[in-house]
Amino acid sequence: MFRSLSRKLILAFLLVSFVGALLAVVITRWLSVQEFQQLIQEQTQNNFIELVSDYYVMTGDWRGVMQYLREGPRVRVPQQPLRPPEGQNHQQSYIYALANETGRIIIPARDYRVGDQVSDADLATGLPLMVAGEFVGTILETGDPPPLDPREQEYLDRTNRVLLYAASGAALVALILGIFLARSLSRPLRELTTAIGAMAQGQMGQQVPVRSQDEIGELAATFNQMSTDLTKLNEQRKQMTADIAHDLRTPLTVLGGYLEAMQDKVLEPTPDRLETMHTEIQGLIHLVEDLRTLSLADAGQLQLNRQLSAPQQLLDRVVGAFNHRAAKKGVDLRLEISSDLVQVPVDPERYHQVLSNLVANALRHTPAGGAITLAVWPSHGKINFAVKDTGEGISMDMLSNVFDRFFRGDQAREQNQGETGLGLAIVKSIVEAHGGRVTVSSEGVGQGSTFLIAQPVTL
Ligand code: ADP
Repeated sequence: MFRSLSRKLILAFLLVSFVGALLAVVITRWLSVQEFQQLIQEQTQNNFIELVSDYYVMTGDWRGVMQYLREGPRVRVPQQPLRPPEGQNHQQSYIYALANETGRIIIPARDYRVGDQVSDADLATGLPLMVAGEFVGTILETGDPPPLDPREQEYLDRTNRVLLYAASGAALVALILGIFLARSLSRPLRELTTAIGAMAQGQMGQQVPVRSQDEIGELAATFNQMSTDLTKLNEQRKQMTADIAHDLRTPLTVLGGYLEAMQDKVLEPTPDRLETMHTEIQGLIHLVEDLRTLSLADAGQLQLNRQLSAPQQLLDRVVGAFNHRAAKKGVDLRLEISSDLVQVPVDPERYHQVLSNLVANALRHTPAGGAITLAVWPSHGKINFAVKDTGEGISMDMLSNVFDRFFRGDQAREQNQGETGLGLAIVKSIVEAHGGRVTVSSEGVGQGSTFLIAQPVTL
């Protein structure tokens, strides 16, 4: 197919250049022949005028002019007489006829015969011949083109040949250029087809070289970007499936083990053991809930029950929920509320989930004696919420990943205290569903972390 595309392109180039060259040849040839004949015509006319006026000046009238012409003047003047009569009479045929001052033909040509009286209308189209200021006759044109002598004919032939060579040269150059252009146009398309074919067969991560800045180059660059994104998405999907399987298996193994042992009467269902089983089930429910929230957000179907809410109330509720746990861990929970706040159109339940996830994380990663500050302040049509802790902080290389699904820091992974690695992914999804943005910053390990949400005040 692409072979035929390049063939089509070559053919198109060739056709265009051929038509162009043909037009150029035809027009140039027509113009040059036209010009050349015009020149010869003028020359012939001047010669004729000169010849007959000379005769008149010499003799003072027209008698014997034909004889003079037939025998030839002393100086041979090119072009005039000398067209052989074309089949008719034995008269010599001239390009110009001459009528005397009374309008009678004295030098015949074509339809003008000797002695004919020329009509006034025809005379008016002729050229009056003046000798020493006196009107002595009229030169009449027959319309025949002047005959060309061999040198002139040769000149025209040569011009034609040169034009033909030039046209063939142009067509050849067009063919070479066409082949080159068609190749370079169809090559990236062939590469793209191969890459897309490979992707369709499951070989992800295909890249094609970007060879130009034009639309085809743009197509190649866009394909590369798409391929990279698809590969990343594919990797994430695989990783997520593995993570879900892993996170489901651990509690299910625990639960299965307990149940089996209790059925076999190896273990007694003590309140402690039942509590452990209950905690595992709670964890599973939590995980499934989180996954559901994320999949709804992905599908753009996260239902938001937006209400104008006072930011302070949102924070108060979170502080109320975590006060006890913070106090128990020896972490100070502080509030910083700006005075000029406006209400924000958010779903209070979802926002509570967002702030709770952030505070729960902060609490988990802040040792006793530390502090967690919840702040809220307005800026440029937005309300900013911040959850800032003085805890373990986040290293530079982890900062860009903390919002990824199932991303867990090394410690969290090792301890696996029910952390799903979905908390921040959910925060991001919910905040973005509200039209807001969440960012994280940390001065580094041991320097604490700050999560910042910018929530637009208008929808
Ligand atoms: P989880 O907390 O369930 O592991 P999250 O998505 O909530 O998952 O967080 C992902 C990772 O980001 C955590 O494992 C932790 O390493 C890091 N993290 C989140 N919040 C903080 C914080 N306040 N301080 C330090 N690290 C944090």
